Amino acid sequence: KSIKIGDVVQVPFNNAKIDGVVTDIHQETNQLGAFKLKKIIKKYDIEILSKHVELSKQLAHYYGAAVIDFMRLMLPPKISFKREWVYFLSGKKGDISSRAYNQQKIFSNLCEHDGMTVRQISKKSKIPVSSVYSALSALIEKGLVIRKHKIIRRKPSVFYKEGFKKPFELTDEQKSAIREITDNMSHEKKPVLLYGVTGSGKTEVYMRLIEDVISKGKKALLLVPEISLTPQMVAIFQQRFPNKVAVLHSRLSTGERFDEWFRIKDKEADIVIGARSAIFAPVDELGLIIIDEEHETSYKQVEYPFYDARKVASLRARQDDAVLIMGSATPSVESYYKALNGKYLFIKMTKRVNDRPLPTIEIVDMKKELKSGNRSMISRKLYENIKATLQGGHQTILFLNRRGHSTFVICRDCGFVLKCNHCDISLTYHFDDKTAQCHYCGYKVQAPDICPKCRSRNIRYFGAGTEKVEMEVNRIFPQAKTMRIDSDSISKKDSLEKYLMSFKKGLAQILIGTQIVAKGLDFPGVSLVGVITVDTAINMPDFRASERAFQLITQVAGRAGRGDFPGKVFVQTYSPDSFAIQAACRADIESFYREELKIRKNCFYPPYCSLLNITFTGSQEKILKNEALKVKKLLQNSQLSSLEVYGPAPCPRFRIKDNFRYSLLLKSRNEEILIKVEQTLKELDFDQKIKVAWDMNPQDML
Ligand code: ADP
Ligand code: ZN
Ligand code: ZN
Repeated sequence: KSIKIGDVVQVPFNNAKIDGVVTDIHQETNQLGAFKLKKIIKKYDIEILSKHVELSKQLAHYYGAAVIDFMRLMLPPKISFKREWVYFLSGKKGDISSRAYNQQKIFSNLCEHDGMTVRQISKKSKIPVSSVYSALSALIEKGLVIRKHKIIRRKPSVFYKEGFKKPFELTDEQKSAIREITDNMSHEKKPVLLYGVTGSGKTEVYMRLIEDVISKGKKALLLVPEISLTPQMVAIFQQRFPNKVAVLHSRLSTGERFDEWFRIKDKEADIVIGARSAIFAPVDELGLIIIDEEHETSYKQVEYPFYDARKVASLRARQDDAVLIMGSATPSVESYYKALNGKYLFIKMTKRVNDRPLPTIEIVDMKKELKSGNRSMISRKLYENIKATLQGGHQTILFLNRRGHSTFVICRDCGFVLKCNHCDISLTYHFDDKTAQCHYCGYKVQAPDICPKCRSRNIRYFGAGTEKVEMEVNRIFPQAKTMRIDSDSISKKDSLEKYLMSFKKGLAQILIGTQIVAKGLDFPGVSLVGVITVDTAINMPDFRASERAFQLITQVAGRAGRGDFPGKVFVQTYSPDSFAIQAACRADIESFYREELKIRKNCFYPPYCSLLNITFTGSQEKILKNEALKVKKLLQNSQLSSLEVYGPAPCPRFRIKDNFRYSLLLKSRNEEILIKVEQTLKELDFDQKIKVAWDMNPQDML
């Protein structure tokens, strides 16, 4: 009777009891056919929104996964409420002996302020906690005081505590963006692509729109690529909307996440900010969903259950009749295409606020550097500019594509490269302890001083890791203070925020970092950005390599010149002719997307088709290939129209933890065909020794 769709219940199953979510309610037994109706054992305190049961079904269908695995993402982590006893006067009269000094004092405190915890009472009455306890139990025994359990919410701390800032006077571009989007929100409710150059003030636009939505009694959901990389963003929202923001991310303790989940569920928060998985937050009555930096790959979950937060967002927006806004200075090629074709409302902000100029970007040809005898990883041009920036009292960011990415160990005589025994990936040299490590499985060896293959002593580390760049910078600019930020140096909780704050305050002049420093950070003191090498990005074995390189250059360049002086950017590369690099350096986004779309069309890649990537993982290569071939044959014989099957091919990351990986890549103009393939795959029995996974519209082809 009191059971509804979305309730979490325990039911008998064979001889055991299992938990589940109510997805359908049948009144009569015979609708269940051969099944016997059984009694529900109990109903838990938690539930998912009934419309999210429907959402789970849609997602399970689209991704070819199990419904329950999406429902799991909609439930809070398993942990209970933190409760505390709160003490009240019972209202009864009675005598307290004049010798019971503590009882007297506590009683009169409660008369002044009814409802306090033991700690509060202790503080107010200046009686030690243990004595408060014994006095309170005496008072309870006399019937003068009662206690009640109260739920205490573990509120995560704010990232930065800077005082409340008044909203800005809007720029013309911000005004017209807000006007157009508000108009759309009350009429057509098309998804919006908000293209705004770095520093154009998108955040302020988000905040004004959210304010509007809240004033109408609805809620807003803001997704950011990774909370720990955008602490400033969260702080800005907490300041503008005090006590209205709930934050969901992986760095919260389980208890904090549990409590934030219930704050959202109980409508105590109007705004939810979170990373990918926050798209499943139990917000009812959404008016607005914003996806900031929509091009970021982190919106895609790359393990089962695969999902793209942007896809989930569009389904949720439709359910709640909310508007979806995707913001970026470097939109994904897919979104840009939809905006061009009118599927999205295309809003552009092309200027930085306060008429700040965009930085100038210059390409430095590293082949020429080498020819002219400069063997350093810092070109002469970049060197001169770092020097000038130091003298001018401004800050520099030096950017590298990935942590220790190309710092591999190579023999200069025979070309031998030290690789992982398990993953077939070059080991990364670490200066701290002179070891070589695998970044997939953690395998670690002492770096050899003699080549294992030809016994030469000419074995060296090669390429530019953040540590090596820092050493080089310290060598040529011994007077400058440097700081290094990569996933190694920020492994400890909270240390990233600390580093970033101290850099913002000017405690270092040169920041050396990986992707982490490319994101939406706002450092007014930075006037110079150097990209040490963009080649590792442009040469990735992925059809999106050019797109990624373009986005990377534009985003890191966007860190320069956000203060009161213009920014300069130098991009060092061995392939200065690449159109993606050139377009990024001219800030010519239109010609980049035009070129890239041409290539995508010619090679039949998204947005001109949908992809399904099927990976086969296992320790026996032969079985993998056989199973992949079997699937390929089956698909080719199934006469599904407009389906192209490529492979099986070894994945670029071929071996991970002693397992091999093969994949089949499926392309189709018609996504429905790929969904059908997924349903077929679900029914197949694969060899027990292998794992098969399929990823609809993958973002990462490695
Ligand atoms: P984006 O996300 O588009 O790169 P931000 O939202 O980070 O840009 O804004 C860039 C900077 O401009 C921030 O320091 C922000 O506080 C400031 N800003 C935003 N809007 C205005 C405005 N209307 N007037 C003055 N400063 C603004
Ligand atoms: Zn050798
Ligand atoms: Zn490995």
